[in-house]
Amino acid sequence: MSTGPNPRDFLAIDSLLSDEERLVRDTVRQFTKDRVLPDVADWFEEGVFPKELAKEMGSMGMLGMHLEGYGCAGTSAVNYGLACLELEAGDSGVRSFVSVQGSLAMFPIWKYGSEEQKEQWLPAMAAGEKIGCFGLTEPDAGSDPAEMRTRAKRDGSDWLLNGTKMWITNGGIADVAIIWAVTDEGVRGFIVPTNAPGFETNTIHKKLSLRASVTSELVLTDVRVPEDAVLPGVTGMSGPLSCLTEARFGILFGAMGAARSCYEAALDYSSERKQFGSSIASFQLTQRKLVEMMVAVNRGTLLALHLGRLKDEGTLTHEQVSFGKLDNVRNALEVARMARGVLGANGITLEYPVIRHMNNLESVYTYEGTNEIQTLILGNAITGVQSFRAP
Ligand SMILES: Cc1cc2nc3c(=O)[nH]c(=O)nc-3n(C[C@H](O)[C@H](O)[C@H](O)COP(=O)(O)OP(=O)(O)OC[C@H]3O[C@@H](n4cnc5c(N)ncnc54)[C@H](O)[C@@H]3O)c2cc1C
Repeated sequence: MSTGPNPRDFLAIDSLLSDEERLVRDTVRQFTKDRVLPDVADWFEEGVFPKELAKEMGSMGMLGMHLEGYGCAGTSAVNYGLACLELEAGDSGVRSFVSVQGSLAMFPIWKYGSEEQKEQWLPAMAAGEKIGCFGLTEPDAGSDPAEMRTRAKRDGSDWLLNGTKMWITNGGIADVAIIWAVTDEGVRGFIVPTNAPGFETNTIHKKLSLRASVTSELVLTDVRVPEDAVLPGVTGMSGPLSCLTEARFGILFGAMGAARSCYEAALDYSSERKQFGSSIASFQLTQRKLVEMMVAVNRGTLLALHLGRLKDEGTLTHEQVSFGKLDNVRNALEVARMARGVLGANGITLEYPVIRHMNNLESVYTYEGTNEIQTLILGNAITGVQSFRAP
């Protein structure tokens, strides 16, 4: 007799994965279990990201893992997505570290860099020996990064950079920053060592979200870099926007990891917690919440896998990535909020993962293009009309 669907993999999504994909997933899941879950509540409470994780993740091939050559693992997009999912089942901050390193700092060097730039930076970044960050957002330029004020001007054979970047993940622990700046030729990307004179970082404190992740302000005052610091392969906003698409791809998988963790915490808790003489799982109102969570996790994971397959085929569009970011992050947040309720008072402590994920997902909802911006991208895609600017 059939035992019925597995409550933790209701649609048997596991059967859609290859042996190699299962191996990657299980390896990263084990890493998360061993190295993230035992301490992440303390990191979150203390507001720290343990930098030593970088080399560990590097040695396991998790940094820039979907890039080919230069010490990168060169795995499929689905494998990269599954790794993001498993890491974010631990904590969105740890997944953010990997996304920023691989998709926002290494990807532009890999895609738009010169051979010398790739050789100089990518192997060390893949190994976690050098940490990267991505400086696009500014105090007055968030959803509309084309409004950036950071300027790069030629000075003899060098460039001089001036400006302020805000909300930069890994900023304070980075060895190298990809800085997007306006030049006479349009927006260009610069590879800037963070120890360059005039480069300062200030940690952003008092965050209540993504606390196990370093977020910083970068202040550049007459930072001088040589001609060969500029990424030669791209001019214009398509450079940074293509990096954001890469990062959003990791997010649409990752968000389902956070959602799964919340659903499973609620499922376990509801079978143990007794009120009115029976487990709270026996109440219809609780079951409804558990079912909504389970459906959202399965649906979002299937969506992520489908988009991953399209990426591996080479047909995935940036609008389809926006679909995934929009829907999976908002659903993950909804799952986290439902799980928070199921845990009652315990839902507000770091003894359980739920409120940590819930708070983290508020950042994930906003960064790499807010939920509203993803909506406008999709609106434009289906109507042919842009509505980013007020008429
Ligand atoms: C924890 C964290 C880490 C981050 N890491 C990085 C990083 O590493 N590198 C980096 O460059 N940036 C990073 N960011 C910045 C992030 O990408 C921006 O916060 C995001 O793009 C939104 O910009 P904003 O916060 O300035 O909000 P705003 O752009 O000011 O938006 C405020 C509100 O207005 C809405 N809005 C804006 N325009 C429109 C419109 N046309 N129509 C409808 N609604 C609109 C937005 O959706 C939002 O709800 C990070 C942010 C956070 C919170």
